[in-house]
Amino acid sequence: MFVEVVLPIPIDRPFTYRGTAEIGARVVVPFRKRTLTGYAVAVHDRAPAFPVRDVIEVRDRVADERVLALTRWVADHYLCSWGEAIAAAIPAAIRRHKTSGTIEMASPGAEIRPRTERQRILLDLLRAARAPLPVHDLLARAEASRDTLHRLVKAGAVRIARVPAPDVDALADAYVEAPKDITLTPEQRAAIETIGRAAGGERPTTVLLHGVTGSGKTEVYLQAIRRAVDAGRQAIVLVPEIALTPQTVARFRSRFPRVAVLHSVLTDADRAAQWRAARAGDVDVIVGARSAVFAPCRRLGIVIVDEEHETTYKQDNNPRYHARDVAIRRAELEGAAVVLGSATPSLESLHRARSGEYRLARLPYRIGRREMPAIRIIDMARERIETKRFPLISRALEADYKAAVARGEQVILFLNRRGYLTYIACRRCEWVFRCKRCDVGMTYHKDRDRCECHQCGSLQPLPPLCLECGMGPLNRLGLGTERIEEELKEKFPDFAVRRMDSDAMRTRRDYREALTGLWEGDTDVIVGTQMIAKGLDVPNVTVVGVVSADTAFHLPDFRAAERTFQLITQVAGRAGRGPKGGTVVVQTFNPTHYAITCAARYDFDGFAEREAAARRDLGYPPFTSLIRVIVSGTKEARVRETAQRLAEKLRPELPELLVQRLGPAPAPIFRIKGRYRMAMLLKASDAEPARTALRKVMPGFSTPPGVSVAVDVDPVSMV
Ligand code: ADP
Ligand code: ZN
Ligand code: ZN
Repeated sequence: MFVEVVLPIPIDRPFTYRGTAEIGARVVVPFRKRTLTGYAVAVHDRAPAFPVRDVIEVRDRVADERVLALTRWVADHYLCSWGEAIAAAIPAAIRRHKTSGTIEMASPGAEIRPRTERQRILLDLLRAARAPLPVHDLLARAEASRDTLHRLVKAGAVRIARVPAPDVDALADAYVEAPKDITLTPEQRAAIETIGRAAGGERPTTVLLHGVTGSGKTEVYLQAIRRAVDAGRQAIVLVPEIALTPQTVARFRSRFPRVAVLHSVLTDADRAAQWRAARAGDVDVIVGARSAVFAPCRRLGIVIVDEEHETTYKQDNNPRYHARDVAIRRAELEGAAVVLGSATPSLESLHRARSGEYRLARLPYRIGRREMPAIRIIDMARERIETKRFPLISRALEADYKAAVARGEQVILFLNRRGYLTYIACRRCEWVFRCKRCDVGMTYHKDRDRCECHQCGSLQPLPPLCLECGMGPLNRLGLGTERIEEELKEKFPDFAVRRMDSDAMRTRRDYREALTGLWEGDTDVIVGTQMIAKGLDVPNVTVVGVVSADTAFHLPDFRAAERTFQLITQVAGRAGRGPKGGTVVVQTFNPTHYAITCAARYDFDGFAEREAAARRDLGYPPFTSLIRVIVSGTKEARVRETAQRLAEKLRPELPELLVQRLGPAPAPIFRIKGRYRMAMLLKASDAEPARTALRKVMPGFSTPPGVSVAVDVDPVSMV
């Protein structure tokens, strides 16, 4: 017998070995001078015409037919190898075959009347779960002690068994959402109907759920999932990593006892355990970031992609897949429904909904017809002239948050840039303090008293004088969250100010504490980056300030306007979620830009129309598909030469009328981590001919030592 094995290397073809294995099993094989672990994709008895080597070892089966079909599509679409795609679909701990220990699981025993309130809660939870729960998880959720549990075990009300490998989320969070009495709004009912129809047909279709912030999208997800689970099927909920907060998770937990959470902060062993639980059918709902799209459910009924426009759904290393698009493909293969939810759908999804490829459901109002908070635009150029200063915070914003804090309400100030100084340059000569390995300026972080490169993370002390001429004093400019925090603390020493950015939030505990402070009203003002733009639902937040709406405009990206619009809308959505209402102040140097004026009016359609017209003119998505090729390496001349040579090789293979080639040209950030980068962009209304050309040229294309080529299909970052 012979096995066809695909390997996690960038060669997209199977290799033949003598031996046998189940399809989808991991197999250890010799490859050139190495030993690699690959995946069996076919077994047959036709001896090949060339000599073959033996399989060294056959291990467990990690991929079923569905995973194989889906990963084959990923390889075809994103131009990676099948082996690389399978490896991306399986957690590292499973790939490396680590086994975890045993765990205690509790299940209901005899019907017995609880003696205490705690006992009652514990038994209710266990019965509601309709399946065994891990003991530590159960105790955390019931806030009960081991003694309480042991008394119930003695009385026969609960049974405990030790089983191999933990099954359900090991990171049980203390947050439990209080059950609410919910009567769906007519719009929510209509949306659920639309999803039901889309899911019910012979070939389920995708639904785009376009709902303003606070319109009850999550409630729609929950009820759509309820239907699927009641029908005996499983659900995958994809959320952007930064929205994977205890608050989000708690909402799913409180409705569905058997929830697995795939966090990036999980240990490998935990991840593996969750994965096994999903595969064994022990969970109904899997909530996770990007890679959860590959969760091994066997009865998938529905996939939810929350905040579908988010760029974090795109993986930025090989395989460069987009979880939303993989979700749609997976649902197609498995007959499941897909719901893409957003307050600011991507132009790609909107275009598909308008063209009839997706169904569209809209939630145009907030729950309770609560008003959207008014958004005021502050022209910072004018503010400078009028105040004769360079204020970080305008008079209008300051007045608003002072008043809010005085009333006992809370404030969020948003700035998508961390650090203290973001521009350090000599006053005498041309010198700018830049990273040694990247073409970007260093950012000074006051809390660590270090300058950091935000591309590669390298650290440098803040130089006292210019490092070039040795004489010039330094200009210290630019603003980041740390400076806003400091200014607030100096001006208003009585305010409880807290910063939430990736510097201040290093652990889940920091995060939880910050959220608790916000929830319980101990924090008056939160200063934060995009970390706080999503998902926070705190009714007492009445004022939101966008300190600079212009950060995305500086990016060399055709999606800059879209990002700006999305960010303002998302951040504004944190205000006025309670009965007190709210206001939003947006500070900008581009007060007439349509991304800003439309966002301030909540005019999504107006924005989408302007933006679509611009994209159509320039030939950008959704009207074309893009493939970006990046050639990089440490020697500039070699990189330039290789990029040129690749372009020459591709030229005869690219049908001129169908595919437009731009570049190779230096990427906007030419050097990152010491590697020079040349970019080439292929644009086409149908990317297939470009893929064909790359498939033909890439395997035989040799690169000099230290130079590599990355192919990014449907890129989201143009840096
Ligand atoms: P979105 O996901 O669109 O931001 P949510 O689903 O979080 O909106 O809903 C906002 C708030 O309104 C939540 O606190 C939610 O529990 C509540 N909610 C949602 N639907 C209803 C409803 N039909 N009746 C009452 N409250 C609701
Ligand atoms: Zn100088
Ligand atoms: Zn750097």
